[in-house]
Amino acid sequence: MEKLLVANRGEIALRIIEAARELGLSTVAVYSEPDKTQLHVQLADEAYCIGPKEPEESYLNLPTIIGAADISGADAIHPGYGFLSENSHFAEVCEGHDIKFIGPSSSVLELAGNKLESKKIAQKAGVNVLPGTDGAITGVKELKEEAERLEYPLILKAAFGGGGRGMRLVHDEEELVNGFKSSTKEAEISFGNGDIYLEKYLQQPKHVEVQVVADEHENYAHVGERECSTQRRHQKVIEEAPAPGISDTTRDELREAAIRIASEYGYNSLGTVEFLVDRDENFYFMELNARIQVEHPVSEEISGVNLVKDQIRLAEGETLEPESYANLKGHAIEFRINAEDPEREFLPSSGRITLKQIPGGHGVRFDTWIYDGAEMTPHYDSLIGKLIITADRRYDAITKAVSALRRFEIEGIKTNVGLHLDLIRQKEFRTGDYSITFLEEFMERSGGERV
Ligand code: ADP
Repeated sequence: MEKLLVANRGEIALRIIEAARELGLSTVAVYSEPDKTQLHVQLADEAYCIGPKEPEESYLNLPTIIGAADISGADAIHPGYGFLSENSHFAEVCEGHDIKFIGPSSSVLELAGNKLESKKIAQKAGVNVLPGTDGAITGVKELKEEAERLEYPLILKAAFGGGGRGMRLVHDEEELVNGFKSSTKEAEISFGNGDIYLEKYLQQPKHVEVQVVADEHENYAHVGERECSTQRRHQKVIEEAPAPGISDTTRDELREAAIRIASEYGYNSLGTVEFLVDRDENFYFMELNARIQVEHPVSEEISGVNLVKDQIRLAEGETLEPESYANLKGHAIEFRINAEDPEREFLPSSGRITLKQIPGGHGVRFDTWIYDGAEMTPHYDSLIGKLIITADRRYDAITKAVSALRRFEIEGIKTNVGLHLDLIRQKEFRTGDYSITFLEEFMERSGGERV
């Protein structure tokens, strides 16, 4: 591997470019027309425009991206997260072009992309899954019968879904039938496949996920777990490692279960196994995310490992060294800083950014693509950066986070920095005793918009 094309944008493109450079690789950026002045374009060794603002015509445009790899002579592609990162066809095309896809093999990606099949794999690995339909629902009659069997509350889920899209909580038959129609439509538009299934809705669980690492020689390791229950519309907002509010026995069981699941998949890259954990600490497998995740830095902070670098090395066929992940220490919390207005229903905000002040110092890391004068456009996601705070103990990480968040002074766009400050002051967050309804409950009691 000599030249790596980064098929992504934003902060993750920068992380990949830096990791590749440390490994002695040259880098190729691709960009859409409005992204011409973005930092990833400036920092890569070469850059190619791949189309207009629409993601389908640029960052999701498979032939153009492969064309850019051919023209530049790139022998590897890193897809980042989102966009084409979990597209098994893309991985297959790369394999066919003798381009190293930085991720698992296309066959593993295909399996992981199907949530129904994934639940079966977890069961084979001896891990519990939530009761639900065995396959996709074929019609309204079956839908009603299955709902009666499983009992409300239930959640409708897209078999090939992601990013919370196509997902709906339903409490009765009316919500069920209407929800089924809208979820099907949403899944068809978002994922090109409208398959929907039903699953028992768990009341106030925690979302806990385990970072796993696997090589091409059937070696597996974990890099601890992350707690990601602070969510809005099933999208994560704050993540931390290790997970507070669970016993060490459950922690060990989760880590072992994740390794068993990864090995049942024949997994061969960096990935994340997601679970829901109920009040009694029973846990259920949800899905395997076969890519680098937004929240990976908290695992880097407690392990001291550069996961993006390791992901590239693993794709080169290197054997993993389990001992490099064994020494987990300290506590890390990540805050997703978004360009949005929490006071106006989280309306996305765009404009020219004026950076007056950003936090820094010991244990304060800001992974970002923004700079003074950068343009936040409305075309892509609203993430402007990730503030990652690390300290020896969770309490100190929270205290440090308060002063770091207070130091943000960004003008020209609205951000959710104030919301983060409110959230980490809450009793549930302080004690670590919070669930996936934490953010929604906070918004309700503080008189904010319902999320
Ligand atoms: P996606 O792949 O679309 O992100 P996930 O399956 O990862 O969807 O679920 C995202 C979030 O939705 C979870 O973190 C959790 O908050 C909620 N969720 C999913 N399934 C259930 C369930 N059965 N019961 C309760 N909450 C759920």
